[in-house]
This record gives sequence, C-alpha cells and structure tokens, in this order.
Amino acid sequence: MLVFESAGLPVPALRFALEDATPFAVAPFCVSSRPNFTPMFSDAHAHLSYPQYDDDRDEIVKRLQDHRVSLVINPGTDVETSRNAIELAKSLPFVYANVGLHPDDANRFDPSDFDTLESLSHCEKVVAIGEIGLDYHYPDHDKKRQEECFREMLRMAKRRDLPVVIHSRDAWDDTFRILEEEKSSNLRGMMHCFSGGIEEAERCLRLGFKISIPGIVTFKKSNLPDVVAQLSLDDILTETDCPWLAPVPHRGKRNEPAFVVEVAKKIADIKGVSVELVAEKVFRNLVSLMQIQTSD
Ligand SMILES: [Zn+2]
Repeated sequence: MLVFESAGLPVPALRFALEDATPFAVAPFCVSSRPNFTPMFSDAHAHLSYPQYDDDRDEIVKRLQDHRVSLVINPGTDVETSRNAIELAKSLPFVYANVGLHPDDANRFDPSDFDTLESLSHCEKVVAIGEIGLDYHYPDHDKKRQEECFREMLRMAKRRDLPVVIHSRDAWDDTFRILEEEKSSNLRGMMHCFSGGIEEAERCLRLGFKISIPGIVTFKKSNLPDVVAQLSLDDILTETDCPWLAPVPHRGKRNEPAFVVEVAKKIADIKGVSVELVAEKVFRNLVSLMQIQTSD
C-alpha cells in the first residue's frame, strides 16, 4: 500500500529537530533538519490515515507542524485501517501506529483476522494495540461477540507486551469487569476519548491506565473539566479522535490533529498552569506509555 507515498507528502521536509527547540527538556524522538519546530503538543489518538484527509493530508500535516504538534498516534479499527495506519506512520517520522479492532467492527470480523493483526503488530512503528473495547451505544450491538473480540485483543497485547488503547462507550461495568479478569503485570494502556466521571477515572488509574482527554473537554456542558481538575497531570493524555469531535472553536467542523492545542489550552485553564507545562507533561506521559524511542 503505497497510497501515502504517492500522495506527494513532503516527507523529508517533516524531519524536525527537537534539539534546537525546546524551552523545556522534551526528549527528541526524531532528528531534524528543520530548526524552529518546537516539540510540544501530542495527539494520542488521531485517525489521520482515514479517507477524510485524502484530498488535503499534506496541508493537515503542515498545519500540525505550524501548531507544534510533534507526536501523533494513529489507531487502527480493523485489518485494513491498521495497515493504513502503519503505512502512514512509515511515511511520517512523528506518526506512530496502533493495530486494533473496534467493537463496532466485531460483527463483521473473520477469526483469521486475529492472526493478521498479530503479525501487523510486529511492524515498525506499531506502539500499541488499539482501538479495542466495548460500545453499547447502538441498539444492534452484539455484547457477546464484542467481549470475545475484546478479550482476544487484550491477550494479544499481553503476548506482545504492548499497551492497549481502549474504547468504552456506555459500557463501563463490562469494561472494568473484563479488564479486571484479564489483568496481568504487563496489561497497561490508555482510556481513549474518556467520557466517565471521577470514579471511573480513578478506577482506570488503579488498573494502570492513563486518561486521554478529547476535545469534548471544551464543550459547554461537558463534565470533563471537573474530572480534569481532580486528576494529576501525570495521568493525562490529550487527543483529538479526529475526524470527529472537533473542540471549540472548531466544533462541528472536521477535526484534525492541530486542534489538540485547544484541548491542552483548556486543561491548562482548568489547572491554572501554563499550556507549555501541560504540553510537556502529556508529551512525556505518551512517550513513556508507548515506549517511543527518544534520542536522549
Ligand atoms: Zn478512535
């Protein structure tokens, strides 16, 4: 799949240097010929390989550089999207991939796909298994099938010693039950697009998971500001979950990784600290969780 390479992405121009740049000591994970690109913001969950960006992906990438978004994690939701995530990650130095199976895809999944996903998980730049989990939002879901797939993928992550990226929607009780039953010393990861309250957040932390805060934190009626206020910056990640859920002031538009800056700003407001501090902390949290190699 050479889709991304043939899309004319300015790959060499994206090699950026962190050594020139940091007002704080953020570890470089990639060496650069581009000065003045300060590493700062990180998007822990962005579907940048989706076709929604096929017409203007190079502009989206340029904008995230302009906004100093220096690390993007692109999840997979089935075999095809996992492959696409890996191809994109290979073409862009600051993009890393996850290999996963979304609960919405559990029904149309062929059991042999597990083997395919496991071999894909060995590819270069795959840093986690995700997204995986449970989604009971739509009435036609098959709880039993979702649970089987979720467990299968958790076991894969444990075998591969990789963190997991969990999607849990209207399904907290079963999510916690399964995670507790599958618990092991190397089961760890992030709750992507966290939507619970402080109790759920604390339960996730006890299970060894980081809390990934999406653009919803900027919405007027969101309860996430209360949750963020009670969490330590050591336990938080920032994400867009693009192309969905664009934060204010972009709400209703197609989301993109550059908008993760709005999430970090909002967290800084809630915490009463600088946006640079938030960016540095969540960047370090993400690099450490995903064990992304840094050069210092
Ligand atoms: Zn997602």
